[in-house]
Amino acid sequence: METVIARITSDQSENNRIYEQASEVLRNGGLVAFPTETVYGLGANALDAKAASKIYQAKGRPSDNPLIVHIADMQDLFRLASEVSGQALKLAEAFWPGPLTMILKKNAAVPETTTGGLDTVAVRMPSHQAAERLIRTSGIYIAAPSANLSGKPSPTKASHVISDMAGRIDMIIADDTVEIGLESTIVDMSGQVPAILRPGFITQQQLSQVLGEVAVDPAVTQEMGAAAVPRAPGMKYKHYAPEAELVIVQGQEQAVVDRINQMAEEKMAAGAKVGVLAAEETCGCYKADVVKALGKRADEAAAAKNLFAALREFDSCGVDYIYSEPFPTDNVGQAVMNRLIKAAGHTIVDAGIGEKA
Ligand code: AMP
Ligand code: MG
Repeated sequence: METVIARITSDQSENNRIYEQASEVLRNGGLVAFPTETVYGLGANALDAKAASKIYQAKGRPSDNPLIVHIADMQDLFRLASEVSGQALKLAEAFWPGPLTMILKKNAAVPETTTGGLDTVAVRMPSHQAAERLIRTSGIYIAAPSANLSGKPSPTKASHVISDMAGRIDMIIADDTVEIGLESTIVDMSGQVPAILRPGFITQQQLSQVLGEVAVDPAVTQEMGAAAVPRAPGMKYKHYAPEAELVIVQGQEQAVVDRINQMAEEKMAAGAKVGVLAAEETCGCYKADVVKALGKRADEAAAAKNLFAALREFDSCGVDYIYSEPFPTDNVGQAVMNRLIKAAGHTIVDAGIGEKA
């Protein structure tokens, strides 16, 4: 399949043409990748089971891992969900449009292909202009998971989408204005107590201010076995993983530096290529083949924005091992560490407090 790559520029009439063309593709049951404020999405008509099934094919995604449905107006919620509680409405009013996905009981209009066989539907109203415009121009609800091959880090740049999806989908809208860099916060509003199924830019604290009690699903922090049926099915699959073996080294700062340097030295002596993922303050302390900084240590937003691109860049450099410092978890950093830990397949080494402490 030939993939049309359409770049958004300052030429407004050309941009109009791009959105018209993309809308036509979507209305005809095709696939279009587009930027959102979180990561790039891979979109199809959410109410067309055949169109939605193409998403699973293109991504190599297991069919029980449901898609998020993107809307442009609050009222659309009532066309997808059978029950919308007062709490859910409060949440929508507080955070939409924005990086928040709500799980609600689905109604009959939403095919099970879109929801991975579940009786609930995930809904989000994105704030990114390209996403909103595509939903409005096409006049459909767009099912869109992240536009990466299943298991790979989510795409935050058009080049990531092109490398994963060229030849597999109809069209890519290229516009490198992804701001956040991590997928949306997912909150399950279909049960008694709201529960976070995936941390994101909107934190538990922010949610609690609106909802009161908010639980965190145990699957957020635990490894899931293949037989388990977690509430967010995506949680049981390998995620965000670079080709290289990724290990997180935690502990006191100097101990982490020493331990990473020691492991890097051993691997390089054995002929392997080693990458290190660090904060700007410490990136000069490492001896490895490739050292990448995500930003200043306290800048959690920069870490969120740069994490997935950094993981992909390590792969392009052909490193065999990546050793990563831990990053702070006060705000969006919690989501950063959630993705990093999953990318590492929960491999965390404790460097302790070191000899000098
Ligand atoms: P992605 O945007 O690629 O991260 O994929 C969508 C995410 O939303 C996956 O982690 C899904 O497991 C999650 N999701 C979508 N629909 C539901 C649902 N009905 N219940 C729980 N999680 C869902
Ligand atoms: Mg994804």
